[in-house]
Amino acid sequence: MNSEDTIQASDFLPLVQPPRKDENSDSLCFAFRNRKLLLIYDEGGYRLPFLSEVEGLDFSGIRTQYLGELRDTSCYSMELDSSKCPDEIVSGDPFKSSSTDVCSISEKICFAGLRELHGILEENLSALAGKAVHVMEWDKNTIYCGRCGSETYLKEKERAKHCQECGFTVFPKISPAIIVLIEKEDKLLLARSPHFPKGRYSIIAGFVEPGESIEQAVVREVMEEVGINIKNVKYFGSQPWPFPDSLMIGFTAEHAEGDIQIDGVEIEDAGWYTKDEIPNIPGTHSISGQLIQHFISRHS
Ligand SMILES: [Zn+2]
Repeated sequence: MNSEDTIQASDFLPLVQPPRKDENSDSLCFAFRNRKLLLIYDEGGYRLPFLSEVEGLDFSGIRTQYLGELRDTSCYSMELDSSKCPDEIVSGDPFKSSSTDVCSISEKICFAGLRELHGILEENLSALAGKAVHVMEWDKNTIYCGRCGSETYLKEKERAKHCQECGFTVFPKISPAIIVLIEKEDKLLLARSPHFPKGRYSIIAGFVEPGESIEQAVVREVMEEVGINIKNVKYFGSQPWPFPDSLMIGFTAEHAEGDIQIDGVEIEDAGWYTKDEIPNIPGTHSISGQLIQHFISRHS
């Protein structure tokens, strides 16, 4: 993730047109009820279903999208008909935690929120689930042209939809957001949004405005949320963040001047913390956790 690391090519090849394969070849299916991923219990753990398995279920898909090839395995996303899904059964949490974002509907099938997949699926499949939900929702939201209301058609050679009536073309929407680790001597700035889980702190983040560079967004968001000026803004890395369609762009920066003044709306508490004082923070599967870990390792 850190820009100093070697960047490896993904072993996933995004494609738009599904290949012609013999009917017995297995394709992976990222099937969603609302935004929760269908997983199948098998041999002591949960795994992704094959497309043929999902097609055999009673609650079939409304729409299916071809995503591309993962090491020669075709990958699809699917929007399930939530009105036909069985009710959730109340039983022990299938991931053996107190999470409220996982539910089982039978002994073999559960639905898990995207934040619950870390440690359950392989890292590359967990990342692909983010792409899958993004494409699935884009497909659902662009059935009709946003300009004239006519039906749209998927283009053949790129992930885009075209309206034959008015000529409008719509691509998947990606919303860039910045996230920044701010240091002041041996301390980092951590802040708390009212939307966070109880006790959770993180670093400053916010969406890029139209017409703004990402560097300008970093400086503006920090000033708006905690009222300080920063310097030495440096790129750190990025991470797709499908909640619902962001790309998080990470930076490190140093405090330049000013005392913390919270806005009281987006931020309800903020302060400077040494590495030994750090409270409850996000895990390192998120770029916020990786940036905080980057600070901890540099001060150890
Ligand atoms: Zn149109």
